[in-house]
Amino acid sequence: MPEGWVHATIDLIVYGRPYFDIHKNKDEAFLRLGKAHRKIKHEWYQAFGKKWTFDDPFPDFLKGLISEIRGACGSDKAEKQMVYWDHDYFDRIWKNLSEKQRKYCKGAFAWIINNPMFLKNWAGVDVLEGKIKRVIDGQEVWEICPELKSEYHRLHCYVKTVIEYDKDLQDMLKCN
Ligand SMILES: [Zn+2]
Repeated sequence: MPEGWVHATIDLIVYGRPYFDIHKNKDEAFLRLGKAHRKIKHEWYQAFGKKWTFDDPFPDFLKGLISEIRGACGSDKAEKQMVYWDHDYFDRIWKNLSEKQRKYCKGAFAWIINNPMFLKNWAGVDVLEGKIKRVIDGQEVWEICPELKSEYHRLHCYVKTVIEYDKDLQDMLKCN
């Protein structure tokens, strides 16, 4: 399975927030159950081939559900629900990657976490100032998100430790 920090990096890029705890919570059964942990809290993963495919990972009914959640509980709750489901989508993708491909993915994500200016210019996430670029009514706005700085700091420290224990990642990151 992709490690929590890999999921968190994807969400930092996509949503501007890492949602590290949502991913840790979803995979908490891993220590007890190993590969079978996806029987718990991975409903969308289990629904692969029945409710969704790689051609249509987020079908209209799911988007409808997200809109309903947004209407009833607000956009923060709706975004967290999207995080909960996209975790399973990426778990499925990860399953099909070779060890080497996984390593390269991790190398790229670790590099991104170590390069805040790239995150700002490419992903529209200013982790140092705590701002997320959004388009509201056709206008680009840098929305202030006070939690972002500490969330990034936590993820950055975590990834630093991951790199310290992974010789391959160290080698990949040396050439920058
Ligand atoms: Zn998972």
